[in-house]
Amino acid sequence: MTQIISNASEMQQTAIELRAAGKRIGLVPTMGALHEGHLSLIRQIREHSDVIILSIFVNPIQFGPGEDFSQYPRTFDEDVEKCKAEGVDIIFAPEPSSFYPSDFSTYVTEEFASEGLCGTSRPGHFRGVTTVVAKLFNTCCPAVAIFGKKDAQQLAVIRRMVRDLNFPIKIIGAPIVREEDGLAMSSRNRYLSAKQRSDATAIIKALKRARTMTQQGILNTDRIISEVTHMINDTLNARVIYVVIVSPDTMKPLKEVIPGKSLIATAVSFDRVRLIDNYDL
Ligand code: AMP
Repeated sequence: MTQIISNASEMQQTAIELRAAGKRIGLVPTMGALHEGHLSLIRQIREHSDVIILSIFVNPIQFGPGEDFSQYPRTFDEDVEKCKAEGVDIIFAPEPSSFYPSDFSTYVTEEFASEGLCGTSRPGHFRGVTTVVAKLFNTCCPAVAIFGKKDAQQLAVIRRMVRDLNFPIKIIGAPIVREEDGLAMSSRNRYLSAKQRSDATAIIKALKRARTMTQQGILNTDRIISEVTHMINDTLNARVIYVVIVSPDTMKPLKEVIPGKSLIATAVSFDRVRLIDNYDL
């Protein structure tokens, strides 16, 4: 049985009772429009928890002006069916107006890993993410929470927030789930035209090229970034927002690839659709 809760106080009360009964709660935070990437998180967290809460909340404060908050896909009924099929115990889907009352005035900011990359191209984004995740942690009282490595910077930021603010929560990073042709699954992929969808495979091809270069002994990050940027930009419909090579823990740029400890990350826009992806080097 999958229970749906939309009221934050009811969610918190339920979570407190579950914990008092000795249950280990696992939390899967999402913005809905669930795909196989999200379902993989549910399957992985099951190993670590007695009760699974999946939250569905398109968080208004992590979208900047002119971003796709109003157009973000909302497929609640289908999401519920997928959660039932995966054995999710509770779907927490708060109403934006009740989760953020009009006089809401407290925010959580992480000030190191959230700089650069999406922190530069989406100012205020990570402040919205850390604030909503802190709220979800406090309402759902998880012992463990899982985040996808597709959002590598988000994972680094959350790990730091949990460490710095002493949240008693284990954070799991889950591998990126990809389409057959290598495109990272994303709720936003559905907005790509057929042409953009086929062009989007340039992203993973370019990231794989970066790994090949490092395997050939080319470790200079400027050289790799330049080649990857050209490969993506040569695709008719694509515009590179950034390509960086960073340490996955700090999100700080590296001058030389440290094999096994480096990540190449990119954000690419296809007209109004913004996609991100990354690859271990
Ligand atoms: P979202 O609904 O896009 O905010 O994503 C919710 C969670 O699912 C985040 O932790 C994402 O990193 C994760 N996620 C999204 N897409 C994928 C994917 N293709 N593979 C693995 N995790 C993913």
